[in-house]
Amino acid sequence: MLYIGSHVSFTKEKQLLGSVEEALSYNANTFMFYTGAPQNTNRSPINDFLTIEALNKIKESDIDFSKVIVHAPYIINLANKEKIDNYSFSMRFLTEEIERCAQLGIRYLVLHPGSHVGVGVEVGINNIAEALNKVLTTNNQDVMILLETMAGKGSEVGTTFEELKEIIDRVDKKERLGICLDTCHLSDSGYDINNFDQLLDNFDKIIGIEKIKAIHINDSKNPKNAKKDRHENFGFGELGFNNLINIVYNKRLEDIPKILETPYLDHKFAPYKFEIEMIKNKEFDEKLLEKIRNQ
Ligand code: ZN
Ligand code: FE
Ligand code: FE
Repeated sequence: MLYIGSHVSFTKEKQLLGSVEEALSYNANTFMFYTGAPQNTNRSPINDFLTIEALNKIKESDIDFSKVIVHAPYIINLANKEKIDNYSFSMRFLTEEIERCAQLGIRYLVLHPGSHVGVGVEVGINNIAEALNKVLTTNNQDVMILLETMAGKGSEVGTTFEELKEIIDRVDKKERLGICLDTCHLSDSGYDINNFDQLLDNFDKIIGIEKIKAIHINDSKNPKNAKKDRHENFGFGELGFNNLINIVYNKRLEDIPKILETPYLDHKFAPYKFEIEMIKNKEFDEKLLEKIRNQ
């Protein structure tokens, strides 16, 4: 079955209920959200009444709540220990984020492994693994951390399957780690997504395909190996419609939730309802951007 959705907002006032309503307005059957703004760590307490209302709404809909995902904020950085305050803060915040997911009933938390900021990939990997070991021993929640494949911007760690595998190898509770693929990031970091089955074979050999729990399905503004991390609307970038649609409908990834993190048009028009419709139709719509603007 196809599980398709996008990232949606999670506001202080409406919380999960607002996220569900937004996802439904895009005809999505899964979604992803940040528990507050992606760029900062201001978070308000979870309101269980809103959660219950949201779950009731989900029950009446096509949304599969077991496929709904939280994304940790970007400023968590477990890869660098030089600024020890940031490192400890990141661990503390990640721990709280796991608690929030557990309270909401969410099982998957996507995390950027981090940026080493000069200390090198090896040290970065060690720092990440050490932090994850600490975080995962301080709680026993049924929440899995999904390490995202990164574009290679700046000093990002986790840009190759080998690096991600090394992190997993050094973490004791491996059963609490999974992977979130990002199609834009994969291409940016140098992977050829034209032959996705070959890429999956490669991933399977190194990490194991069963570790993939989510996919960010983004087009890219840049050609392969650009290391820029600039997402583009579905079918309108360098990856192209056919490549992306083949990934969405790849049999080996059938039950994995696909999440759009494509850009708003002119910074104000959400493209997701239109992109989801086009994905369901499996046919490229050249006029899609105009339709999004005229919604
Ligand atoms: Zn991400
Ligand atoms: Fe992503
Ligand atoms: Fe990205």
